[in-house]
Amino acid sequence: MKEEKKLCSIIVPCYNEEEAIPIYYEEMTKVFSDMPELCFEFEFIDDGSSDDTLERIKELRARDDRVHFVSFSRNFGKEAGIYAGLEHAKGDYVVIMDVDLQDPPYMLRKMYESVVQEGYDCAATRRADRKGEPPIRSFFARMFYRLINRISRADIVDGARDYRFMTRQMVDSILALSEYNRFSKGIFGWVGFRTKWLSYENVERVAGETKWSFWKLFVYSLEGIVAFSTAPLSIASFFGLICCVLALVGAVFIFIRALLFGDPVSGWPSMVCIMTMLGGIQLLCMGIIGMYLSKTYLETKNRPIYISKEEE
Ligand code: UDP
Ligand code: MG
Repeated sequence: MKEEKKLCSIIVPCYNEEEAIPIYYEEMTKVFSDMPELCFEFEFIDDGSSDDTLERIKELRARDDRVHFVSFSRNFGKEAGIYAGLEHAKGDYVVIMDVDLQDPPYMLRKMYESVVQEGYDCAATRRADRKGEPPIRSFFARMFYRLINRISRADIVDGARDYRFMTRQMVDSILALSEYNRFSKGIFGWVGFRTKWLSYENVERVAGETKWSFWKLFVYSLEGIVAFSTAPLSIASFFGLICCVLALVGAVFIFIRALLFGDPVSGWPSMVCIMTMLGGIQLLCMGIIGMYLSKTYLETKNRPIYISKEEE
């Protein structure tokens, strides 16, 4: 009896990518014909694009019934796109992939082999270098990965891309994490499973522009920390303890000095400095608590992660 071919779903989040979609599709069909042992389906996610992205996808759908799509009612972000894709994917294997060809399609075969022949649950990719990126951005990115791995249990790999090949079992466990504040890099690490890391040289995108500004990346990294670590919450206790000890030492010092030499009242400038510093620390700690509180607030609202306007 002939064994049934396994289905591999490819999730492609797209936001204003009208130029990249046709190029991407051409490249992928070449890869598909090189991998006859699998059946494929596309799950395009139109993340509320304002250009002709949805039209391009529908054109593909009209001539290729392996193409499916979900179109959001507005821009919900790539994380929501990934979640929608995982929910809709029917494959035994699932791949997440950018449409700008920064995730090299030729790696698909190697990823597939790692999972099927070497028995990994997931094959993930990372950039071997950060060529073509402003040095200051690379510096902050490195700092972020070092920090988050120190304070969180999720194993978050420097330079990891969202481009990965997963088994159905892993996909189902990711779907079980239905949190609203999604930080995929952390979620992938958190669910565990055996992951094979494949490196590749950074590639420039084929068309269009990146949607990530430095500020957006900064906010994203803060969200990652809040989502996967509660360590910042203990900063308040840490500073509190240090201040108490300093104050105690200071009090003893002043008391003894006053006993020995008497005390002319002085030190107004130093007083102001100390007060400003303490006020600063208190506000900082309140801000941190506020960040966690706001995330908790959003999470308890239990809002849907995305709203689909149209799907096929
Ligand atoms: N993307 C998305 N929603 C967004 C922003 C981006 O679905 O709000 C998609 C985008 O179309 C692309 C992928 O996410 O397929 C990666 O985006 P981008 O290339 O801008 O990020 P970079 O590769 O620079 O990290
Ligand atoms: Mg890109």
